Amino acid sequence: MAGCLALVVGAGRGARFGGELPKQYHDLAGRAVLRYSLEAFLAHPDVDEVRAVINMDDRDLYDEAVGGLALLDPVGGGAARQDSVRLGLESLIEYAPERVLIHDAARPFIDGETISRIIDALNNHSAAIPGMPVNDTLKRGEDGVITQTVSRDGLWRAQTPQGFRFPEILAAHQRFAGRELTDDAALAEAAGLDVRLVQGSEDNMKVTTQDDFSRAKSYLAGAREFRNGTGFDVHRFDTGDHIMLCGVKIPHDFGLSGHSDADVGLHALTDAILGAIAQGDIGSHFPPSDDQWRGAESHVFLRHANDLVRARGGEITALDVTLICEAPKIGPHRDAMRARIAEILDIDIGRVSVKGTTTERLGFTGRKEGIAAQASATIALQTRTTTRE
Ligand code: MG
Repeated sequence: MAGCLALVVGAGRGARFGGELPKQYHDLAGRAVLRYSLEAFLAHPDVDEVRAVINMDDRDLYDEAVGGLALLDPVGGGAARQDSVRLGLESLIEYAPERVLIHDAARPFIDGETISRIIDALNNHSAAIPGMPVNDTLKRGEDGVITQTVSRDGLWRAQTPQGFRFPEILAAHQRFAGRELTDDAALAEAAGLDVRLVQGSEDNMKVTTQDDFSRAKSYLAGAREFRNGTGFDVHRFDTGDHIMLCGVKIPHDFGLSGHSDADVGLHALTDAILGAIAQGDIGSHFPPSDDQWRGAESHVFLRHANDLVRARGGEITALDVTLICEAPKIGPHRDAMRARIAEILDIDIGRVSVKGTTTERLGFTGRKEGIAAQASATIALQTRTTTRE
C-alpha cells in the first residue's frame, strides 16, 4: 500500500486561453507548464508516485514535456474536469494509496511547503485544501452597476493541490459523477467530509488566460540566479597533421597528444560549464583511466555538461573561450568554431565567443610546445523551481 500519491490533472483544452496548443503544454522558460508541478510532487519526500491525467490526443506533447521524469504512465481524462479526476482516481485503485493529492496542471508554481501543509492536515482531517483569504472588497454587480457589497468575512480563494484520504474521495467522486462541481473539495463537502483549510501561497497562481501566462513568465524571469564558471586546459604538441580545436579540424604541422581527441578548447569550456553548476570537472565525469573515453570526440563531454545544466532547468547565457598559442592562427577559424559550439549545445551563436592570443613567444606556448585554453561560462538557473542545490 502506497502512502501518498499525486494526481496532476491536465486533460482540458483551455478554452479561455485560446490557440491550438493546450496551455499546459506551452513553453514557460524552457519547460512545459505541466512539467513544473510534476517536478514539484516528484521532489517532495512524502509523495510516493505521481500520475498525470491527460487528453490522450496530446500523448506526443505529453511525452515531450515530461522527458526524463520518473512518473507513472498517464491516464486519459474525460469530457469534464470532474470526469478526468474520477478516471484518474479509479486508475490509482491498484496502488491502494492512503492519501491522494489532486492538483491542476495549470498551477505550475506549487511549492513543497504548501504540499507539506496539506499532507500534514490529512493526519487529522479527511480532506484539506490550500486557500488564500480574500482581501479585496467584494461587489455584486448587474449591467455594470453595483447591487450589493458582499462581506468578505470568512471567504477564501481555493487552490490546489487538494488532499484527501483516498477511499473517501474515490467514493465521493463515484457517488456524485455527473453533478457539476468546480473543485474536488466541493465533492467532499457534498459527501459530508470535513475539509480543512490551510494556508496556500500567492505564488501558486492558476494560468487560465494569456495574461496569466505573461505574469507567470515575468514571475520566473525575476527568479533567475546567474552562475559563472571558469576552465583551463593544456595539451602538448605531438606528431600528426591536424588538431581539433573547439570542435573544428584544423590542418597543422603537429597533432595534440591526449587521451581523447585532445580538443583543448572544448575541454576548458566543459570545465567552465561544470564549474558554474559546481559539478566537479571533466575528469570526474570522464576519467582518463576509463578506456571507453580513449580517442573520444570531445563534443560528448561538452554535451554532457549541457545536459546537467538543463536537467536543473538552467540555460547557458554566455560562453567565452580564449585559445593561447603561436600557431595555428585562430582568426580564420573563429566563426566555424563558434558555429560548432553553438550547434553542439543547441544555443544561439550570439552567446558563443572564441578568441585567440599568443604569449609573445614566452613560455611553453611561446616555444610552440603546446596549446593552452581558458574559458568562462555564464549560466542562468531557476531559483523558484524544485531542483535546488
Ligand atoms: Mg584536456
